[in-house]
Amino acid sequence: MSHKGLLVVYTGASGVGKGTIMKKLLAMDPNIRLSVSATTRAPREGEVNGREYYFVSREEFDDLLARDGFLEHAEYVGNCYGTPKEPVFRMLDEGLDVFLEIEVKGFLQIKKACPDCLSIFITPPSFEELQARLRGRGTETPEVIAERLKTAREELEHHHLFDYVVVNDDVDRAAQEVLSIISDRKSMED
Ligand code: 5GP
Repeated sequence: MSHKGLLVVYTGASGVGKGTIMKKLLAMDPNIRLSVSATTRAPREGEVNGREYYFVSREEFDDLLARDGFLEHAEYVGNCYGTPKEPVFRMLDEGLDVFLEIEVKGFLQIKKACPDCLSIFITPPSFEELQARLRGRGTETPEVIAERLKTAREELEHHHLFDYVVVNDDVDRAAQEVLSIISDRKSMED
């Protein structure tokens, strides 16, 4: 697969602060775009259809899957998530750098299909910190939080598969590190 822009897989445990870093990246670099995934999960308060996600029914999800519409897809804590293929290819062809904010199973699919993608794993300074953030967010039930923490532990074990690991000890510093990684990769390709 040869495109003009850079495909960046951007992964990290639930509650690690990926979204906050992502907002900074979008504000700091006009060439970065975030792919909007489809999910069968219910919207959280404040989430808007087409902005955070395309919120779809299981039938709609399966329909797009059957039409080969996803670049990758995975189930995560009881819900389906997938990256719509067409917009990602279109943005890459336009020379934009496209971030896929996805979990580890999706990353493994992308790595297979696009071995030259850039992969970045965001970790918390400690697991205790992650626990505190996820509980403090107050958007999930205790059962869902427990499931997400279990999945986070499993995901942390896969960090060595990524090209880079960035510790979110400070949002601005972490965002700056991600931008440096991107510019290093681009200068290597030039
Ligand atoms: P959340 O429900 O907290 O928004 O997302 C749960 C997990 O699913 C996060 O790790 C998030 O990055 C991941 N995720 C979001 N969209 C996709 C997607 O399209 N594909 C995959 N594989 N994971 C996704």
